Amino acid sequence: MLRIIRARLRQGHRTTRYPAGPPPSLPERYAGMPVIDGAECPSGCSRCIDACPAGAVARCGRSVSIDTGMCVFCGACETACPRGAISFTREHRLASRDREGLIVKPGAAPGPRDIFDAKAAAVFGRSLKLRQVSAGGCNACEADTNVLGTVGWDLGRFGIQFVASPRHADGLLVTGPVTLNMREALLSTYDAVPEPRIVIVTGACAISGGLFRGMPATSGGAEGLLPVDLYIPGCPPHPLTILDSLLRFLGRTGPDGRKAPGGRIRAAKPVGEPE
Ligand code: SF4
Ligand code: SF4
Repeated sequence: MLRIIRARLRQGHRTTRYPAGPPPSLPERYAGMPVIDGAECPSGCSRCIDACPAGAVARCGRSVSIDTGMCVFCGACETACPRGAISFTREHRLASRDREGLIVKPGAAPGPRDIFDAKAAAVFGRSLKLRQVSAGGCNACEADTNVLGTVGWDLGRFGIQFVASPRHADGLLVTGPVTLNMREALLSTYDAVPEPRIVIVTGACAISGGLFRGMPATSGGAEGLLPVDLYIPGCPPHPLTILDSLLRFLGRTGPDGRKAPGGRIRAAKPVGEPE
């Protein structure tokens, strides 16, 4: 027993201080929000479009746009570009409340979008229970979601927890491309969540089908099947991206992802009051 107590004392406090302190450091090879310097693109060039395995790069005027809801952040477009027009920043705040907001256009700044949802904050700001549904995922998004429950991140300190039954949940967190075998299960699970409820789609597969888009065995993600409240891109999204998305969505941190002294910094209007 004394040995255990000694070991615990030696370990000290292991939970990240984020968002009260700086966020945990990201791995060197981390690729975050892309930026596109459209002025560099010679007319007719399509090397990045041809290199993208996910079909995430599209023509945008003389240059291109990148759909981060489809992107798997492999870096092939950055490598293929002979002019250095595409680069991936370390910006981990990638979420959007609308699908269009996931598309990065030439010249767009890599800063985060404001994803605060006043209604969600009013109802779930202090307590959010989510049922995670893996709808045919590879287990990477699931792993990076599950790790938030460990001592290193301690998601529960924000009142956010994953629960076993949709009857006990306030919403769904969906991962995977929604295989045909999981489609009915996903829809039934959504129906079992009492209203008001929210839907968060996490990872390229759940947003757009990702690399499985267009395959006959999948539905191309949850988009179009469920009313999505929050999109969290990545393949998989880093746990920091998922945590930042949840906290800013609920107003637990400000638009910049930082927590103000004293806790919640964004006022949520009472339920029923117009925005
Ligand atoms: S990083 Fe994204 S946009 Fe670029 S090639 Fe890979 S999947 Fe396509
Ligand atoms: S980003 Fe690079 S590869 Fe893509 S169109 Fe522009 S110059 Fe060509």
